[in-house]
Amino acid sequence: MSADLNLFITEETIEGDADADGPLAGATVAVKDNISTEGIRTTCGSEMLADYVPPYSATVVERLTDAGATVVGKTNMDEFGMGTTTETSAFGPTRNPADPERVPGGSSGGSAAAVAAGEADLALGSDTGGSVRCPAAFCGVVGIKPTYGLVSRYGLVAYANSLEQIGPIAGTVEEAAAALDVMAGRDPHDGTTRDLSEVDGADPDASYAAAADGDVDGLTVGVPTELFEGADERVVETVEAAIADLEAQGAETTDISLPSVEHAVQAYYVIAMAEASSNLARFDGVRYGNRSESDGNWNESFAETREAGFGAEVKRRILLGTYALSAGYHDKYYEKAQDARAWVRRDFEDAFADVDVIASPTMPVLPFELGESLDDPLRMYLADANTTPVNLANLPAASVPAGEAEGLPVGLQLVGPKFDEETVVRAASAVEER
Ligand code: GLN
Repeated sequence: MSADLNLFITEETIEGDADADGPLAGATVAVKDNISTEGIRTTCGSEMLADYVPPYSATVVERLTDAGATVVGKTNMDEFGMGTTTETSAFGPTRNPADPERVPGGSSGGSAAAVAAGEADLALGSDTGGSVRCPAAFCGVVGIKPTYGLVSRYGLVAYANSLEQIGPIAGTVEEAAAALDVMAGRDPHDGTTRDLSEVDGADPDASYAAAADGDVDGLTVGVPTELFEGADERVVETVEAAIADLEAQGAETTDISLPSVEHAVQAYYVIAMAEASSNLARFDGVRYGNRSESDGNWNESFAETREAGFGAEVKRRILLGTYALSAGYHDKYYEKAQDARAWVRRDFEDAFADVDVIASPTMPVLPFELGESLDDPLRMYLADANTTPVNLANLPAASVPAGEAEGLPVGLQLVGPKFDEETVVRAASAVEER
C-alpha cells in the first residue's frame, strides 16, 4: 500500500546511537532528500543528482541519530524544493495517504506522507516558503518551521538560503517539538545559527516538548483578515471552528490586519528565484551533477548538462531569477521585493506588540487532485499566500490539524514572534486537543 504512495526515493537505514539512551531512542525518522546523509545518495528529487552520494551528514541528521533516532530513508520531494505538490520530482509524484488521488502537498510531500502513512514516527522537511507546513496540512500531520537561525542548515542543499529552515514533521505537536529540541541550537558549521543565550528575550533552556501543555488560558490570538480572504470556504469554516475552540479554552481572539501580505507571494518568488539562480549554478557537471557527454567546449558541456539534468520548473525559476537580477531589471524587481520583505517584517512586528500568536489557514485550498495544478504554475504559486509571509519575516510557525472538510485534512497555521517557538507549540497543542 505505502509502496504505491511513492514516499521514498531511497530506502536505506542509518542506525541511531543505541547506547545513547537519548530522548529519541527507538524513534524512526524519514529525511527529505535534500538533506545530506553520509554514504546515502541525496538526489534533491533531481535527475542532476541521481547518483550523488554526500561525504558527510547534515548537522540535523547527526543530532537526531545521536539522540537515538534511526533514519529509515530519504523522502520524495519537489525538485530542489521547488513546488507545492511533490509533482515536480524526477522520481514521480507522491500520493496523499488521506486520498491517493490527491497530492500530499510540497515540497516535503514524501516526508509528511511517510508520517501520515505510519512509515516513520518523525520526518524532516525544509521550509523555504511553506514546504514543511503545506504538506503537514494536506496530510493531516504536524509541521514546525523554526525561526531563521534556530536550526542548522549545514548539509541542506540550498534553494533560497535567506528564507529556508529545516523543520520537524510528526503525528503530534509534542513529538514534533521533542525533535526540535534535539535539532535546535548553534552549529559552528552554520554561521547563521544563533546561540539562544545571546538572543534578546529567548530562553536558552527552553524545552519545546514541555511547552506542548495545551494551556492557552489568557493567550491573545490575532486573526488576520487578509489570510482568510479568498480562501476556500470549507477551509475557512474548519479553521474558524478550531479558533472558536481556542476561545473556549480561555484564549482571547482579536482581528488584526497585515496589509503587506498581499504582496508576499510576489516578493517571495522574486527573492526565491533570484537566490535559486545563484545557488543552482554549482550544478554544471564539473563541481556537482551528472555530466552530459559532449564533444563541444566547456560552455556547451555546461549547457547540455543543465538541459538534461534539470526539470521544467527548475529551469523556469533559474531563467526568471537570472532575469530579475540582471543589470537593467535589478531595481525593478529584486530591490522592490526586498522592500516588500521589509514591510512584511514590520507588519508582523507591529502585530506582535498586541498579540501573542497569529492564527490562519495554513493553505487556502484543499489538497489538489494529482495533475490539477501542474500546468498552471501561477495557481500553484498563489497557494503559498499564507505560508510565504512567515519566511519573508524569518518567524517561527506550525501547521496543526484543525479538522477535515470533505474528508480531507485542513491545517491551521500558528505564527509566533522570533525565537518564541514555545508559544507556537503551546497554542498548537491546544488546537490538537479538539
Ligand atoms: N512552494 C514554495 C516554492 O515552490 C515553497 C517551497 C519550499 O518551501 N521549499 O518555492
